[in-house]
Amino acid sequence: MMAKYDEPLLNEIEEEKEEKFEEIERKELNIPNLPERQVMKHFIHLSQMNYGVDTGFYPLGSCTMKYNPKLLQRIASMEKINFVSPLQDESTVQGNLQLMYELEKMLCEITGMDAFTLQPAAGAHGEFTGMLIARAYFEWKGERRKNVIIPDSAHGTNPASARMAGFNVIEIPSKNGRVDLDALEHVVDGETAAFMLTNPNTLGIFEKDILKIAKVIKEAGALLYYDGANLNAIMGKAKPGDMGFDICHLNLHKTFATPHGGGGPGAGPVGVKKFLEDFLPLPRIKKVGNEYKFDYSSKKSIGKVSMFYGNFAVLAKAYTYILMKGKELKNASEKAVLNSNYLMEKLRKAGYDVPYYGRRMHEFVISLSDLRKKGIRAIDVAKRLLDYGFHPPTVYFPLIVEEAFMIEPTEDENKATLDKFAEVMGKILHEDAELLKNSPHSTPVKRVNEVMAAKKPKLTWKDLK
Ligand SMILES: *Cc1c(COP(=O)(O)O)cnc(C)c1O
Repeated sequence: MMAKYDEPLLNEIEEEKEEKFEEIERKELNIPNLPERQVMKHFIHLSQMNYGVDTGFYPLGSCTMKYNPKLLQRIASMEKINFVSPLQDESTVQGNLQLMYELEKMLCEITGMDAFTLQPAAGAHGEFTGMLIARAYFEWKGERRKNVIIPDSAHGTNPASARMAGFNVIEIPSKNGRVDLDALEHVVDGETAAFMLTNPNTLGIFEKDILKIAKVIKEAGALLYYDGANLNAIMGKAKPGDMGFDICHLNLHKTFATPHGGGGPGAGPVGVKKFLEDFLPLPRIKKVGNEYKFDYSSKKSIGKVSMFYGNFAVLAKAYTYILMKGKELKNASEKAVLNSNYLMEKLRKAGYDVPYYGRRMHEFVISLSDLRKKGIRAIDVAKRLLDYGFHPPTVYFPLIVEEAFMIEPTEDENKATLDKFAEVMGKILHEDAELLKNSPHSTPVKRVNEVMAAKKPKLTWKDLK
């Protein structure tokens, strides 16, 4: 349970006047003048009123809020990682180049791709990079292909990225929670540049027809794009490269244990098959003899997509995480999938509806639409969970499920936590409608106006005036 303080803002705390310094104080600095002790107490209180993966269950579907081992933070703050300049001469940062070179090889091994760029700073940025690669490839081939096909279950960044790269987006409906092959075949033609697919998809369902899908796309001369933001389900078990994907992005800040939320920093490396390697952003890192070098030689490259070489600290954490886990990476996926199916069954037993019921991968989606009869919406249940000390799941996504609750327990939670969560969810189902609609009751901040919070966020104390 979160702590609760009646904590004023720093500028609301009455200052203790130190008269003798008044003459030399800079008057224009309009910040509170408080003793360190008070400032420390303030920030510790704020941190105690916060909720994170280190304090409790955080089943935010599609976000993979797994535990981030503290060793990774220590590695990322090492002098030779944290205090190097990207402008240093190659010869002075050989270890850093080696780390990036080896990370690229590891990601190739995990995904079955042939080459990676580590530059993109987020998943969406990776998608955009992948789409630019697709565009450059067809321009080079002299083919005019203007369409990108995307299922209606996709993450919203997919259509946005394709559109930003200059493509038209064609959305196809899902059938029983999967790609509808007939619908796909109906829209694929000589103008199709790519099909963007998430597998397992956002319902946590594995697209078992993936080889047939790949065939349809290949026969049309188009590219198959893999949204690998949530690789947590298949690491060490299956490879997008083996499924026929040509381009894929990963979210190191989800699957490979960099803390995220609040906007970064992240890393969304993009992998491609050999025939697309020359289109990757520059520089690439090559090993010449025993030396690592930046390579700017490709003429087909789409150019740079980041300043310098990407978010190096995030890369260092992913590299460490993969080395730490080694062959056990696959255990993480197995446990993530087991946890997700276990919790899904418990919630079904408690009375929740699982659309397209069947085995799931790392996450699952339930629908709370039955509760609408009582005037209760998914958001009310989400808010009520806060009273019981749980972070709510992702709500209202994917869009193809009404009143969706998208739940991703991750591999790091134990049975006791999952049981407790299921028990609380079961209890909420029978709670009074008014109680739910006015929740949360026990948190420092009560129900917020979600629309105002998104449209008119107050991000500094100045906005509060
Ligand atoms: C998180 C996510 C993305 C976007 O990643 P960002 O790093 O937030 O840009 C894309 N696709 C899927 C399926 C995701 O879960």
